Amino acid sequence: MAMRPFVGGNWKMNLDANGATALASAVALGAPACQGAVDIVVFPPFPFLERVARALGDSGVELGAQDLSSEANGARTGEVSAEMLRDVGASWVIVGHSERRQHLGETDARVADKLLMALESGLRCVLCVGESLEQRKANREAEVVGSQVAAALAAIPAAQVHSVVVAYEPIWAIGTGVVATPQDAEAAHGAIREALTSRYDSALARETRVVYGGSLAPGNAKALFARPGVDGGLVGGASLKAPDFLAICSAAAHRLIAH
Ligand code: PEP
Repeated sequence: MAMRPFVGGNWKMNLDANGATALASAVALGAPACQGAVDIVVFPPFPFLERVARALGDSGVELGAQDLSSEANGARTGEVSAEMLRDVGASWVIVGHSERRQHLGETDARVADKLLMALESGLRCVLCVGESLEQRKANREAEVVGSQVAAALAAIPAAQVHSVVVAYEPIWAIGTGVVATPQDAEAAHGAIREALTSRYDSALARETRVVYGGSLAPGNAKALFARPGVDGGLVGGASLKAPDFLAICSAAAHRLIAH
């Protein structure tokens, strides 16, 4: 059975305060057209969370943060805790984005600690995994995403997995305009579900949403979302334009899965 799709907008380190409010308002206005059939979440930068929460109002579009601390509180200058995120209205958080793994030295172990902290605090999580270009050239994509999933979920009990969406984000496709083929995405999602089956069981693997991220755009979303096991997307660049983001949400809401 097809699962309710998920589409997230990762705004990264973009926009100013007014731009964030305007984008959130435009997404809130357009979302009802597809929302009965898709979970929509936006992930603004930390300083804009509260104003974006206000702009989203009761539109049903949910609020997420782009990262969190693995610690509950205390001497961690510059970090933001799970409780702080919940306090300002966030119900989701991204964990393990490749930009943090690559540029900020985030290890599998740190990603695992953050995931545990987020879930124990009642946040739902988008866990990002994906291979580099070198790893893909060496045909190691299945091994890489499998080991990232296994490491991140090692301490997570089965009962908490329903709060996790796994995002397959091949690094070579992020922000490059190069998108994975639907077949490549389907194969990688299969490898992620194999890792979930090894860690838990096949039923839980089937019930866990796995979404695609990497240069998603209105023109390529439909074909990707038509593949079995591609349950929506995590959108970077295209999420900064409300019409493009909403078109991707609509493609997820109206997807026809090929068999
Ligand atoms: C991302 O970084 O999560 C992402 C998917 O970016 P883009 O859509 O810009 O490739």
